Amino acid sequence: MPLLSDLHFDNRFARLGDTFSTRVSPEPLSNPRLVVSSASALALLDLDADEAQSELFTELFAGHKIWSTAEPRAMVYSGHQFGAYNPKLGDGRGLLLGEVVNQAGEHWDLHLKGAGSTPYSRMGDGRAVLRSSIREFLASEALHALGIPTSRALCVTLGDNPVYREREERAAMLLRLSPSHIRFGHFEYFYYTRQHDALRQLLDFTLSSCYPECLGDPQPELAMYRQVLQRTAEMIAWWQAYGFCHGVMNTDNMSILGITFDFGPYAFMDAFDIHHVCNHSDHEGRYAFHRQPAIAQWNLACLAQALTPFIEVDTLKAEIATFMPAFEQHYLHLMRRRLGWQGAEEGDSALIEQLLQLMQDSGSDFNLSLRLLAEGDTAARDHFIDRDAFDRWQQQHQQRQGSSETRQAALQANPVYVLRNYLAQNAIAAAEQGDFSEVRALHELLATPFSTQPNYADYAAAPPDWGRRLEISCSS
Ligand code: AMP
Ligand code: MG
Repeated sequence: MPLLSDLHFDNRFARLGDTFSTRVSPEPLSNPRLVVSSASALALLDLDADEAQSELFTELFAGHKIWSTAEPRAMVYSGHQFGAYNPKLGDGRGLLLGEVVNQAGEHWDLHLKGAGSTPYSRMGDGRAVLRSSIREFLASEALHALGIPTSRALCVTLGDNPVYREREERAAMLLRLSPSHIRFGHFEYFYYTRQHDALRQLLDFTLSSCYPECLGDPQPELAMYRQVLQRTAEMIAWWQAYGFCHGVMNTDNMSILGITFDFGPYAFMDAFDIHHVCNHSDHEGRYAFHRQPAIAQWNLACLAQALTPFIEVDTLKAEIATFMPAFEQHYLHLMRRRLGWQGAEEGDSALIEQLLQLMQDSGSDFNLSLRLLAEGDTAARDHFIDRDAFDRWQQQHQQRQGSSETRQAALQANPVYVLRNYLAQNAIAAAEQGDFSEVRALHELLATPFSTQPNYADYAAAPPDWGRRLEISCSS
């Protein structure tokens, strides 16, 4: 096991130079303490879970110390925010500390979010508050445990520094891990500033670091775009199949790896509502649950626009048109798995739609109803108002259900526990009072979401009334 102090860095992105990022040092948190850490994320760096207990760990991830071979930099990018182009964004409150190479030869970006101001902070303070850091930590690790492609989270640290939002809060830092921090917005920045040489360099870098398998293709750029599109379609299918609303699907929050990235006011839906808008600041409902697939496709068109210097427009248009069929295919696959259906039949899509309509009409809890159905629990029926309609649906469902093996597999596809907003809220409230035990317990629970844990029966239930309509907004 290597030690935290001698991680091996190979900072490829930093070597691209000042056109792509700016060297900035983190602004440390005062009186830092560790809120929570993820043993499985530590393992990605070949680190033992015990490392998180050391003073050095907290010092490193609260910006007090830095490895001599790390090279903290703020990346420049732009992007479409709520449909409008914003020419200059960039890492305003986060730094790419460097790239760690693990024993398997994988590169992992270490990104410290909430590390202080940078040239891209605009009017912001460069800080992250405790609640948003905890929310990103819990979501990253919970999505991963469900099998949903996502960036990871290593830890959250907390300081005494005051931060002013709607009220005074405390500054925190989150250490995010991802094989890459390149966003759609990186490409847009170099395209719209007409720096086509730099755009070419970025493309070559992304190809070699993220999509080396495309280099052998006669048209590597196109092969890469196709991969990004396919992976994004699959990611969105996971979101739709598990009731996950991202909340801020701006192109600067879209990873070039097609993984869930940059968590803000996200939510796992409780009661099923196809029009659910999780971001309190999204007045138009641009990023409503049912719009996520179309928005992802729109975002992919923005990325395509930035690649027009290298790929024919008509070729790109033809690729973009493959998004919805790809999404549908992945979505159907995931929903069949959740419902324990074997093989594929013509009427599957319509039968799924019927179930969702019944849930919509009844306000049924999305993940709980699906779990009860997978368990074959008659209590599922109690979650629907029109029981006759449910019984008619259930008959068809039973005909579609496969062998006992498929039904067994469905239990591994239907979580008992999901990261409900109110659960996160309870953990945050305790943490703000200095008690981190609830954050840690929730993180542990959500690391094995498919198995029932006797002490946590309440956590599987639908939310209490106060927890149904929590308002979460962008600014944190
Ligand atoms: P986000 O909503 O986190 O995706 O951020 C959108 C943009 O605003 C990015 O360029 C961020 O770096 C920047 N930003 C968000 N919050 C802050 C902050 N507190 N200080 C500086 N920049 C920020
Ligand atoms: Mg962002």
